[in-house]
Amino acid sequence: MPGGSVPLEGWSYNLEPVDFAHQLEKLQERGFRFVSLANYLAAGELPGGRSRKQVAVTFDDGWLDNHRYALPILDRLGVPATFFVVSGEMAGVKAERRMGAGELREMRAAGMDIGAHTRSHPNLASLSEARLDEEIGGCKADLEALLSGEVRHFAYPGGRFNGAVQACVRRQGFAAACGVVGAGANRPEARFALSRDVFTPRMERPRDRLLLHPVGRWLWRRGSALKAMRKRTEVGTTGGML
Ligand SMILES: [Zn+2]
Repeated sequence: MPGGSVPLEGWSYNLEPVDFAHQLEKLQERGFRFVSLANYLAAGELPGGRSRKQVAVTFDDGWLDNHRYALPILDRLGVPATFFVVSGEMAGVKAERRMGAGELREMRAAGMDIGAHTRSHPNLASLSEARLDEEIGGCKADLEALLSGEVRHFAYPGGRFNGAVQACVRRQGFAAACGVVGAGANRPEARFALSRDVFTPRMERPRDRLLLHPVGRWLWRRGSALKAMRKRTEVGTTGGML
């Protein structure tokens, strides 16, 4: 639930708790099975790939409301999730709006996965190699010291990355990294550019229905890939997911 970001018109990453619970229940009703991001990735390595009905839930930034509202819902429904956390200060964001050491340790103790999301949430695509190491490797080190355990997953702030950013994430020892949106197949070769789906709160719009249906997802993925290709051709860059 990043703070108020709206990637596409009418699409927000923020959800009311009641809508979040509704989404999870609706996915469960439709036969989707929730797995940790580690298990989602491991299933993708199996011959034949993972089931189309496996879902990994993720949150970005480390907002306090994740602990207050999302954790009890996840607990109740037995759903694992990954929380990508910024380990330093975020410009313009008060510390009390974000999870501190206590909340993060509680998350981990509740079986949730804590991932890294840099030290200060910069646009990584604009940083030098030294600054990339500091933001990406530094965040991993901060969280590992705080949690006394390994941090294996990363999410690019704002979904922005390029080859140098990806190389740094690999160099720093992460197992996988998430972009922001898209309906990619998330095959093993894309583990450092994982796509994520965003649903509208009640999951009732045409795009939601497309994403929930295997054939619809396939069509959506094809459309997204074509759009990304056109964008790359127009802009002349390979950076970024948006
Ligand atoms: Zn973020």
